[in-house]
Amino acid sequence: MTERQIRLFGDPVLKTVSDPVKPTDDVRGLVEDLVETVKVPGRAGVAAPQIGVNQRAFSYNVDGKVGYVINPVVVELSGEPELMDEGCLSVPGFYFPRLRYPSARVAGEDLDGNPIELSGTGVMAQALQHETDHLDGKLYIDGLEKGVRREAMRLIRESDWF
Ligand code: ZN
Repeated sequence: MTERQIRLFGDPVLKTVSDPVKPTDDVRGLVEDLVETVKVPGRAGVAAPQIGVNQRAFSYNVDGKVGYVINPVVVELSGEPELMDEGCLSVPGFYFPRLRYPSARVAGEDLDGNPIELSGTGVMAQALQHETDHLDGKLYIDGLEKGVRREAMRLIRESDWF
């Protein structure tokens, strides 16, 4: 288990649509690294592309619960979308408000291929939507309201890590 370095906005791995994990793929090491990497205090989720791997898996760390899912699919979003402050380890130092559903449910698999479901409200719902988007090559800043996005891009371009 290794805590892996987080890829930053601008890295093409973050814009690539990730491949489904096949039953023959050995992703145990990947999942262990995702879990280890999300355990760092202050982290809510890490998707495989963020550690440089374009395979469909992510880990989460919300309300003291740490876990992962392979081949996640959002199966339910409910409630009125509301503006939530959101950040991303790949866009460090920034939080911008964007619309998210207040309740979400994701279906996927564990390492043994058994079906699992994750669901939650609030930060968990936000994490489930945010991390699944990463697997489709999408960053949360892509979904910001136009004016907010323009300002976000300006601030990001001026940041010392960009
Ligand atoms: Zn992110």
